[in-house]
Amino acid sequence: MFSLGKLRLALACLFVILTVNFMVAQKPLNSNGNLVPDGKHHGVPGQSQLAPTPDTVVTGNGINYHGGPVLKANPVPYYVIWYGNWNGTGSNTQTTVSLVEHFISTLGGTAYEHIATTYGDNSGNVSGNVSFGGHTFVNSSTNLTDTSLRTTVANAIASGALPKNANGVYLVLSSSNINETSGFCTQYCGFHTHSTISGSDIKYAFVGNPDRCPSGCEIQRTGPNSPSTNVGGADGLINVLAHEQFEAITDPDLNAWFDSSGEEDSDKCNFNFGTTSTCTSTSVCSSAGKAAGAKFNVNFGSHDWMIQQQWKNAGGGGCVLHL
Ligand SMILES: [Zn+2]
Repeated sequence: MFSLGKLRLALACLFVILTVNFMVAQKPLNSNGNLVPDGKHHGVPGQSQLAPTPDTVVTGNGINYHGGPVLKANPVPYYVIWYGNWNGTGSNTQTTVSLVEHFISTLGGTAYEHIATTYGDNSGNVSGNVSFGGHTFVNSSTNLTDTSLRTTVANAIASGALPKNANGVYLVLSSSNINETSGFCTQYCGFHTHSTISGSDIKYAFVGNPDRCPSGCEIQRTGPNSPSTNVGGADGLINVLAHEQFEAITDPDLNAWFDSSGEEDSDKCNFNFGTTSTCTSTSVCSSAGKAAGAKFNVNFGSHDWMIQQQWKNAGGGGCVLHL
């Protein structure tokens, strides 16, 4: 179910100060918002005094620039670490793996991802193009912590399972038996952060399978791509992934784009889907999605998707599905 009240509650993002770095989290639907912004949106010591290039840093659209870089690669590669057990039941399956990787592979260059091109830094703009850069599987039944999350990324790079790339984003996606003990499902549905790994500034995000907590992190129990009724984890995960990847590109080091409340672009449209359609017999939705009348709002890569709107840094700002 979905209500305006939940929408308002879901709007704010939270910031948790870690021992060595920050993370930026996507607030769940039912969060009480008991954490406060960390104040990182103050001046950045030592930042360039040069005037921003007008074409790359545009302000006045409800979100502020704080001097840090954006990711400008064309495309920005996304590396996926499948953590837990993805040969299980429900949505913890290779079907989800394939769907999520298809989403990533077809996201680049879409009208949706093009919204990110309204963000830039002093040397250029986001390309709006992303790619699937590869994956690795970490089979484990051990819950994640913020520390072990970082270690998981570091190990994937150090082992050569994934390349080291400071211009990409590493996505750690966990199966629904796995908790992230710093607050998955209660404080956040996902978050992104960065850390120095193997001598490089590596950007990474955590996105858990929201079938662990549908009421907090899933907009609908049966999504447009659900393989069966009430198995909505893949679609739910893709929505959170859409949120975190957008922020990881436009605020990779947590010092570029966020508003006076500490909210990044995706936070300003958290669980805000805009105009939606209902899966019908003529939709490309899955059979279960059609039977349940699942909602979707965009189509690309020969699939219907239900992903949140994004804040455009143009035209006065606003939550949109395309420019
Ligand atoms: Zn966020």
